[in-house]
Amino acid sequence: MDLNTVTSYRFARTREDLALRRGEKVLGGGTWLFSEPQPAVTGLVDLSTMAWPDLEISDAGLRIGATCTIAALVAFAEGRGPVAVPADWAAASVFPVAANALLASFKIWNTATVGGNVCQSFCAGSMVSLASGMDGQAVIWTPDGGERRLSVASLMTGNGRNSLAFGEVLRAVDLPAHALRSRLAMRKIALAELGRSGAVVTGRVDAGGSAVFSVTAATLTPVVMRFDELPDAATLAAAVSDAPGYYSDPLGAADWRRGVSIVLAEQIRAELAGTA
Ligand SMILES: Cc1cc2nc3c(=O)[nH]c(=O)nc-3n(C[C@H](O)[C@H](O)[C@H](O)COP(=O)(O)OP(=O)(O)OC[C@H]3O[C@@H](n4cnc5c(N)ncnc54)[C@H](O)[C@@H]3O)c2cc1C
Repeated sequence: MDLNTVTSYRFARTREDLALRRGEKVLGGGTWLFSEPQPAVTGLVDLSTMAWPDLEISDAGLRIGATCTIAALVAFAEGRGPVAVPADWAAASVFPVAANALLASFKIWNTATVGGNVCQSFCAGSMVSLASGMDGQAVIWTPDGGERRLSVASLMTGNGRNSLAFGEVLRAVDLPAHALRSRLAMRKIALAELGRSGAVVTGRVDAGGSAVFSVTAATLTPVVMRFDELPDAATLAAAVSDAPGYYSDPLGAADWRRGVSIVLAEQIRAELAGTA
């Protein structure tokens, strides 16, 4: 749609270009920005010209550039990208599952960026689900030239809300190597077959045997639950049931979201335990 309040469009090439003037917003893929009126926005600053690498592999793990498209992340996971997935990063096989939790057309997938999905911060944000389940860290450039890091899960403050201050830009999402080497599973459910996610649950077992489960989409902010080992069914069900923030909206009632999250978590637990 036309954004008829926008009177300037800048391509950012340096960090200095990211200094926002009043009324300006950074643009990732623009799929959300151009999907509805933005009466408060008078200028756009395009991040695509920052030339951030899509994907960088190191001993620490995977850095996903904020401008990496969801399609490029899926291509990487499926062995179709320019960078090969390290052989022991079993959890990368879940990236396409996460991408499919984003109800979107081919056009959206190829344009929407990982950073845009995280910064839009919808409860049903598929990249938020993925990063929360994998201890993903948000690397944030601050307007004073500094950088701060915090978990993607704790960056979220509500449905469509996060703690980014004006002028802060998400530079990347870092996924740690220990999570990439884990056994990871993800399940999603929506009220309508092609509807936006009502609940997305991840579970993983790390090399040392500890387990991490996360609930997103069903709760206003991601809930991450950690266990010394894979919990038994009752322990996991109690933890998921007690998670804070289940909410009601036209995409699902709070008690339904709680109930299906418990079911999805148990399916994952059984899969990870090898009893599914
Ligand atoms: C048809 C359709 C279906 C959709 N389905 C879903 C869905 O199922 N689940 C869901 O969660 N969302 C959904 N969305 C919304 C959605 O989150 C996105 O469209 C997409 O992920 C946004 O990515 P983008 O790169 O296009 O972001 P943009 O539209 O470019 O930006 C979105 C917001 O993030 C900010 N932003 C972008 N990049 C950065 C950055 N690096 N640092 C700081 N701020 C930044 C922008 O200023 C803007 O406020 C859907 C949208 C459409 C149009």
